[in-house]
Amino acid sequence: MRSPTVLSARELKRHFGAGAKTVHALDGVSIDLRRSELTLLKGPSGSGKSSLLAALSGLTRPSSGSVTALGEPIWKLPKWKRTRFRRRHCGFVFQAVGLFPALTAEQQIMLILEYMSIGKAEARARARTLLDEVGLAGRYESKPGTMSGGQNQRVAIARMLAKRPSLIFCDEPTSALDKSSGELVASLLQRTARKHDSMVFCVTHDDRLTPYADRIIEIEDGRLVTDTAAEIV
Ligand code: ADP
Ligand code: MG
Repeated sequence: MRSPTVLSARELKRHFGAGAKTVHALDGVSIDLRRSELTLLKGPSGSGKSSLLAALSGLTRPSSGSVTALGEPIWKLPKWKRTRFRRRHCGFVFQAVGLFPALTAEQQIMLILEYMSIGKAEARARARTLLDEVGLAGRYESKPGTMSGGQNQRVAIARMLAKRPSLIFCDEPTSALDKSSGELVASLLQRTARKHDSMVFCVTHDDRLTPYADRIIEIEDGRLVTDTAAEIV
């Protein structure tokens, strides 16, 4: 039996410009995404991948259409409630990792946990467990400048996981990584989906992620064209 749907989008459209020059970045996208699955969204450059991620995750308002995430109609909520929803339930992983250069790996994560009012000792213990989970035991005290791109991306993922988000959105998380770190990150995302029952939605044109996907969807010119789960609705 497959896991329940946690995010549903209907007839998402997004256009830029007007008249003959209008670009339809999203041209009527409907989709249901499930808990515990790593879904990959593939497509050529400019096909609407980032626009779709932004609309599904509450980052950028679509021109029309609806998104229901964990039962909330996110584009109908007032902005402050949408921001609160995103902070509570959504995790993001981007190509540019965004770690603080002066902080060690465990401090990057402790910062988030302390912000969640978790005490320092508990925050340190949890940060270390998360670093162990992403294969960085022994790098607790390392700063970003002393680690590889793949290691830093794994710190960023551990930091994202600290919040235990139900909905995880990744945009080209491996495109700056070499082969083996790309595969490590891909398997980590798949394991995260299973172990934490998270929905993981990952935009990529990196074929190295394919073996780790539970489901692959392709987009072209703002429309979904294939879906291995045949659930384009
Ligand atoms: P992808 O992530 O697949 O490369 P995007 O979603 O970024 O695609 O972009 C889809 C289309 O929308 C492209 O043609 C892009 O040029 C256009 N687009 C995206 N953002 C903007 C913007 N802020 N202003 C104008 N056009 C945009
Ligand atoms: Mg993009």
